[in-house]
Amino acid sequence: MAAPTKTNGHTGEWTPNSWRSKPIKQCPEYPDQAALAKAVASLHRLPPIVHPREITELKNHLRDVAQGKAFLLQGGDCAELFDYCQQDAIESKIKLLLQMSLVLLWGANKRVVRIGRMAGQYAKPRSSPMEIVDGRQVPSFRGDILNGYHVDERQLDPERLVKAYHHSSATLNYIRASIASGIADLSKPLDWGLGHVRDPALKEKYEKAVEFLKDMRSFMHTIGAENEKFHTVDLFTSHEGLLLEYEEPLTRLLDDPSATSTSPKKQYYNTSAHFLWIGDRTRQLDHAHVEFFRGIANPLGVKVGPTTPASDLLALLRALNPEREPGKITLITRYGADKVADLLPAHIRAVEDSEYARTVVWQCDPMHGNTQSVSCGIKTRRFSNIFSELQQTLRIHKEQNSYLGGVHLELTGEPVTECLGGSENLAEDDLSTNYTSFCDPRLNEKQALELAFLIADHYRT
Ligand code: PEP
Ligand code: MN
Repeated sequence: MAAPTKTNGHTGEWTPNSWRSKPIKQCPEYPDQAALAKAVASLHRLPPIVHPREITELKNHLRDVAQGKAFLLQGGDCAELFDYCQQDAIESKIKLLLQMSLVLLWGANKRVVRIGRMAGQYAKPRSSPMEIVDGRQVPSFRGDILNGYHVDERQLDPERLVKAYHHSSATLNYIRASIASGIADLSKPLDWGLGHVRDPALKEKYEKAVEFLKDMRSFMHTIGAENEKFHTVDLFTSHEGLLLEYEEPLTRLLDDPSATSTSPKKQYYNTSAHFLWIGDRTRQLDHAHVEFFRGIANPLGVKVGPTTPASDLLALLRALNPEREPGKITLITRYGADKVADLLPAHIRAVEDSEYARTVVWQCDPMHGNTQSVSCGIKTRRFSNIFSELQQTLRIHKEQNSYLGGVHLELTGEPVTECLGGSENLAEDDLSTNYTSFCDPRLNEKQALELAFLIADHYRT
């Protein structure tokens, strides 16, 4: 079957490699082109990591989010490392996301759709190609898919593309196995590792939510309304679609599962993850990333920030979602606590007063506009600023008669000390206790759960 072409008025015919004729930001220049070609050929041969049926299922969930019927929780590391592909690290992140979604379900009284920044979040955009480490100028760390964090591993290595594929697959395999084996069984929510929640107030609140859900479950059992779906919880995967050398060979022309037998249809699916997003530094309308992603059937995110003109938003939606499929595009807003009130209302109006009204998922990323360096030079974020941006975003959407459909967070299930404040009241001096991020500072499990409760409180009061 011939590959369908897309001429949506954006920039002419689309093919999986039409991005190569466009200007591109953050593009690595591999010195060894033969090694790159070999790695890319391996990726072309390997099977899809995710299936179009799952991608379509997520798109259907996101349609519900766009229409205000469900809530989207997306979270994980800023930079996932190959080293995080370990049982404990994967389990603790799944458990944290599930605990948070339980709290959100209880608070917002809506189904929660979960997406991990996991199983592929290996490429990082950098503001500078070089940095100084121990007085030496070295190439910046660009994520495990490109180079290593260790100063002696900073050269670009194409074999890392294939390693990224295998680490993504192994991580997703264990996510699937854990979920299929009942890690998310709501009939035993106390098995969700509640032991690590030491703060008594937080623990009491969490137990109240668990009690509520247990009662609801036994009520449903009594009336015979229990359904299989209640036993397992879906967790979809996502990453920033930054490294197109990796995304292109995993993009395949496959049967659209929603097509009928009388009218079969094929579409291009990016099989590296269920959901991909375009970062703040690579969303230029006439550049390579927008060109690549406009041809992909997956649901997509676009980061939106202080440098996004309102007029670009509509142009982006028209390029990426010409058919106006509800839930296809998630606008991930990240302005900073001090800017959100000035900038978000105009962005909401630009979209909601257009033909795209009620088609997008509005998601708040309260992390990336609130990064700061403290006196010792450590990169951190204040919990109070993160919460403030989220709270203002919730209020503004309500005032604008629009729906905040989700949150996008950098978090980890480990007890790290990377963000200031929260119920433990982490201070600058505490940052060095357990600061393990190789990129941006993440919420630890307590701070992340606390944020979920603050969102829940917004809905319950
Ligand atoms: C990120 O999500 O880690 C990131 C780099 O965000 P942004 O593109 O919004 O700066
Ligand atoms: Mn980040």
